[in-house]
Amino acid sequence: MIKESKESYMWKSTDWNVTVEMHKEAQKLAEGFNRFSKTNFPLKFTDVDVVIITETNTPDSTPKLNEYCVVEDYIPGQFNKWCNNYGFISAEAKSSNSSMPAFMHWSWCHSNGEKMISDLQGVRSDDPQSYTLTDPAMLSLTNSYGVTDMGVEGMAMFFLHHECSSFCERLSKPKKSDFLGVIPDRQLSATMQQLKNLGDATTYTHELKFPPGVREGITTVFRRVARGGYVY
Ligand SMILES: [Zn+2]
Repeated sequence: MIKESKESYMWKSTDWNVTVEMHKEAQKLAEGFNRFSKTNFPLKFTDVDVVIITETNTPDSTPKLNEYCVVEDYIPGQFNKWCNNYGFISAEAKSSNSSMPAFMHWSWCHSNGEKMISDLQGVRSDDPQSYTLTDPAMLSLTNSYGVTDMGVEGMAMFFLHHECSSFCERLSKPKKSDFLGVIPDRQLSATMQQLKNLGDATTYTHELKFPPGVREGITTVFRRVARGGYVY
């Protein structure tokens, strides 16, 4: 599976550093979550490599000659998207035995409320039992993971939609009332409406930003709540 940048051409292999580093971080997080949750269906991410394109069919085709792309292993099986980077959680992922939203919740606690793994998609396998995930997005308070990092807004939208399962019920979590007091009602209903219009399963790169005061308010809530507990 080949991935080219939708935003711009990548003429240097280092242009992909953010993506490659994020993938490595995601792999470590998955290992940590597997240990924490003792799940029967361990999570893992595909490996990625950066390659240069040395042949193209026509001069106009993309990716371009000499452009750098990221390649991932092809995953056979039925592809699913369980969670996106802006609060969407699929019906399957809402079932009590799904570990996907719990993985997001755990990653947030694990980073003391600074980050959250998101955009969880891939293939579930019964033999051997596993989830193979691909192409994640990382959300961070500092917005340092590129265009799919929906930051504090993405994390807030996740918590507004997430009900804990047995995998994550022991982890600290901001209460809905923590947000509802901080995000003005009009802002919240406008954002919810926008989400409905755009379709739930998209990977967001749109600017659905809260005003600076609201962002600061939620950031404060996150840091306070996340410090409160990471219970094993
Ligand atoms: Zn949870």
